[in-house]
Amino acid sequence: QAKAAGKASWVLFEPRMRRELMDHARVGSELLLALEREELFLVYQPVRDLDTGRITGFESLVRWQHPERGLVPPPAFIPVAERNGLIVPLGRWVLREACAQFARWLAEPSGAGLTGIGVNVAVRQLRDPTFVADVTAALADTGLRPAHLILEVTESSVLDGPDVQATLRALHELGVQLALDDFGTGQSSLSLVRAFPMDILKLDKSFVDGIADGDDRGRLAVADAVAGLAATLGLQTVAEGIEDVEQLARLTELGYTSGQGYLLGRPAPAADTTALLAREAGETPGAAEPDGAAE
Ligand code: C2E
Ligand code: MG
Ligand code: MG
Ligand code: MG
Repeated sequence: QAKAAGKASWVLFEPRMRRELMDHARVGSELLLALEREELFLVYQPVRDLDTGRITGFESLVRWQHPERGLVPPPAFIPVAERNGLIVPLGRWVLREACAQFARWLAEPSGAGLTGIGVNVAVRQLRDPTFVADVTAALADTGLRPAHLILEVTESSVLDGPDVQATLRALHELGVQLALDDFGTGQSSLSLVRAFPMDILKLDKSFVDGIADGDDRGRLAVADAVAGLAATLGLQTVAEGIEDVEQLARLTELGYTSGQGYLLGRPAPAADTTALLAREAGETPGAAEPDGAAE
């Protein structure tokens, strides 16, 4: 008993862990300032139709330009924001910014082929009682039609409980599209997509990795099963994290409707993305050329 307690307190004060805890506390307090100082911005990663190669939309991804630490990637602050609740105002900002930007692209001639903008939503946001009202207001204020908004949620969010499930149904009633992100990594994938009003399955990058190498039959089998399931249920599919032409060819063969990944375009700020759209609108359709834009 005493030994166990001694071990526990040693773990609690282990220096590395202590440093991490302090980092999280600092990140947490700095994040509030970052929101106020407008240090956050969005990058947009193209989602392409795998048959035509054309851009049909984007996933919006948040970035933090820290005054001293430089560019901070989401895994370094999103989990902290989820824990301290800042994800709610942060996510509200992301939602408005993404809707406003997508509405601007849709209004341009080069945006004629666009169908939807993806916005990642954390479970903490879905639990917030004002979330449906926030989404409604963001759409009304930016003039974006609900069908143009794709909310990306994870399997664990859907399984959070009846409140989140009611929220997802309300969002679907609103006409917003729902995408199951990182699909295939969760526990109860199959029953989940049948029980909830999902529109899009996003196959997790871990299944795309190695899909083209002959010995990885397990991942290929999952990718194949997900495509089959989606076809049966009439859902769209997006394969995430496509990095090479062999993966692209395999996923197209398997029937994936859309793809996303460094091969098809890196996440880029709004201005670069506007230029990309204009450039591709002037090209002959069918040429999905690998994009070298910096993140
Ligand atoms: P996610 O929603 O699954 O987003 C896809 C991630 O994969 C992005 O990382 C993207 O940059 C990266 N990615 C795309 N294609 C490739 C590829 O070909 N190779 C590799 N190696 N990576 C690729 P990012 O931007 O660092 O975001 C990481 C995660 O952070 C996201 O995963 C999402 O869960 C979360 N996140 C990002 N932005 C937001 C946000 O605005 N709100 C919330 N709640 N979460 C966000
Ligand atoms: Mg996502
Ligand atoms: Mg994902
Ligand atoms: Mg992922």
